[in-house]
Parts: sequence; C-alpha cells; structure tokens
Amino acid sequence: MTNRVWIKQPLACFDGTEQIVTNGIVVEAGKIIEVLAPHQSPSSPCDTIFDARQHVVLPGLINTHHHFYQTLTRAWGPVVNQPLFPWLKTLYPVWAKLTPKALRLGSEVALAELLLSGCTTTSDHHYLFPNGMEDAIDIQVSAVNHLGMRATLSRGSMSLGEKSGGLPPEQTVQAAEVILQDSLRLIDRYHDAGDGAMINIALAPCSPFSVTPEIMQESAKMAKEKNVRLHTHLAETLDEETFCLERFGLRTVDYLESVGWLNHRTWLAHGIHFNDEEIARLGKEGVAISHCPVSNMRLASGICRTKELSDAGAIISLGVDGSASNDASNMMYEARQALYLQRLRYGTQTITPEVVLGWATRGGAKTLGRGDIGEIKVGKQADFALFTLEDIRFSGSHDPLAALLLCGAERADRVMVAGNWRVVNGEIVNMDLHALLNQHRTAAKKLVNL
Ligand SMILES: [Zn+2]
Repeated sequence: MTNRVWIKQPLACFDGTEQIVTNGIVVEAGKIIEVLAPHQSPSSPCDTIFDARQHVVLPGLINTHHHFYQTLTRAWGPVVNQPLFPWLKTLYPVWAKLTPKALRLGSEVALAELLLSGCTTTSDHHYLFPNGMEDAIDIQVSAVNHLGMRATLSRGSMSLGEKSGGLPPEQTVQAAEVILQDSLRLIDRYHDAGDGAMINIALAPCSPFSVTPEIMQESAKMAKEKNVRLHTHLAETLDEETFCLERFGLRTVDYLESVGWLNHRTWLAHGIHFNDEEIARLGKEGVAISHCPVSNMRLASGICRTKELSDAGAIISLGVDGSASNDASNMMYEARQALYLQRLRYGTQTITPEVVLGWATRGGAKTLGRGDIGEIKVGKQADFALFTLEDIRFSGSHDPLAALLLCGAERADRVMVAGNWRVVNGEIVNMDLHALLNQHRTAAKKLVNL
C-alpha cells in the first residue's frame, strides 16, 4: 500500500539553494516525487494532505560535527572559562568514566535536541573507548534508530597518550590494532552505502595531538578500500598548529597530506587556521569543512575562513560540535550564530540567510558524501523541517525565510524523516522526553561526581 502525502501550499520553501514558490511537495515511499509549480496539483490523488500554509519548509537540516556524550558535561564549572587544550585536559578524566548507559542517555538527548531543531541527519564523532565501552558505536546506532533519524557515525580513536607526548590520559587511548579491527567490524556490520541509508560509518582519528600518524595512514587506506568517509579535527587552535610543528615539523595541512588525507573523502571539523596556500590546496581536492561557530566562539578558537575556502572549491557545512563546548545541540541556533559570526568577517551582502541555510542542508549532504538528502528536489529523500512563525519572536516579521534566522527559530513544529513524521506539534513522536531528561540529569551528575 502506498501512502502519497501532499505538503500543500507552504508559506515559504527553501530548496537547499534558494527560496522557491511552490504549491507543495508530494511524497511517496519516503521520497519526493513532485515539487509542484504554483497552482499545479499533484499528478495523481494523495492519501493525505498536510496544510502547510502556516509553515516555512526547509530540507531536513544536517549536522556534520558532534560528540553526543558531551551532553553529560554541559556548562561544567571547571571548564567554563578555558580554551581548548586546558579544557580538554580537565575533561578527559571525567569522560574516561563514561559508561554504556550514560552514553545511551547522552546520545538520545543529543539526538532529540537536534531533531526538535529540525535536524534529520547528523554525524557523531565518538573517540572514547575506555574499558567496558567497546560497544560505544553499536549503542549509538541503536539510539539513532530509536529516534528514526539518519546518521553518519564516525568511529573515532585516540592512540597517542600522555606518556608518548600526546594530550589524552593513558586510560583513554587504544592500541592501533584494536582500533583498526573495530573500525572494520563496524563498517561491515552497519555501513549502508545505498540511497536513503539511515546509517553510515566513517573513520575518525580524533586529532593530530591524540593519534599517531600510523593510525591516520591506516584509517585512510581502510576508508579507500571500503569507500567510507574520513573525519578529524584540524586547524582548530594555534596550540594545535604549534604541536604539529614541534612534533612532526609540519603545519596542519602538510601533516594531513603526509598521512594520505588530502582528498575528497575527508571532512574536517573547524578548519580555522589555514593560510592562503593551504586553502587553495584544500579547495582543489574538494575537502569539506564543518564550521562550528558556537564552539569556536566559546573556546575563542578563531573564525573559519568560509568564503575563501568555498571560493577555492572546499565544501562548507555546519556542526554544533560537542555539547561541552557549545553547549546546545540546536541546528537553527547554530545557523543563526554562523550568520552573525561570518557577517563580522565578510559583511552583510556575502553572508545571507540562504547561504547559511545552504551550509546547513546541501553543504551538509555533500560533506557526508550523500547525494540523496539536503535538497527539496524530485528523487531526493523526504526529509523536511517545518517551522511556524507563531511565537512572539516572529510577531511583526515579513520575510518568512529570513525570519527563521533573524528572529531566531529554534524549534521545529514538524519534522519528517524518510517520509515519516518524527516531530508533530513540536513534540517527538513516541518519546517520553520528560523521563529521558530525568535519567540523563542523574547520569550527568553521577559522571562528574564519580
Ligand atoms: Zn569536536
């Protein structure tokens, strides 16, 4: 039995590139089958008609950098005023006590918060596998399935402990062999390369200061062999640049190239401290950058050079980053912050709401190597975020699309993933959020007090 849905006459619609005028979108079997011209009706009768006259419709938002477990250490006193390296060194011993149950709760909260903000596809970068946490990614797969979202789950890793000159404590690092075997297991078990995939796996050694070059090289080889994507943190702070110069005698992009990562398969979190020549090289290879404005502002890391990167051919997308440095998992909030931070660098004419929403949708899809999401076009997956403009913050606004960012939309009224409504009237379908938050708060307290 097919169920054909007409999302009829939206108040406004953004297709991933620009605002379009449409009489609606027709969805069948999880895909967009028609994007109607004004006054055009569906070519065949629909089973359900959703009146969208009060809704601004966007492609489902795509988050390209996160650490779900960090929702357990939001706004933690000891790191509120620290920059990246001391922030990390203070948090590592807390994170090392992570349990499977706490990770499950942390992941569900992060996913729920993202979904409520209009996010339909997210990535996560999980690199903590202390004893007892061997199934971390399996737990995350289950949490993503539970929420009915799509995700690229990155099998992260740390292999360069303090004793060997790295930043993380010894109990948080793993042997190269263990990392690579588990990476292979996860790709074989969960990675779906097909159209409409709900789960993708990527390989993600954490950062230059927490993994060995060997893990970078071996991960790149495996990613090529298995045709999966590569992810890491790069050029986030000047401390990291100094670390690379001292330890490898290379700047960050030279290091990236030396380990076989300077290619289209790679997406980098942050990507702030690049010089012109490095930007040209990243652009030429089609590397993608996950811009994380709130984290970058909170840790005072710097401002990503999005325009130069984009002009050079790099792909730009948005990431909320881990909740210990944001501390929200809200894609609309992130997009608004991106608009304002990037305007400070490039001005009002260059950084428009359409540009930023493009990063949050089409750019996110390209970053994750997906051609089936991020746009409202025939043949794409039926992933949408619908916002109403009824809240006090929108009263008196005129341009509905601009209003989403300028007035600060933060919660979607409706969200559809793969043709299924996952958020209805601002609430997640089939989820007791109140109970989840109670358990999550308890787990968060326990983690920092252990
Ligand atoms: Zn991060």
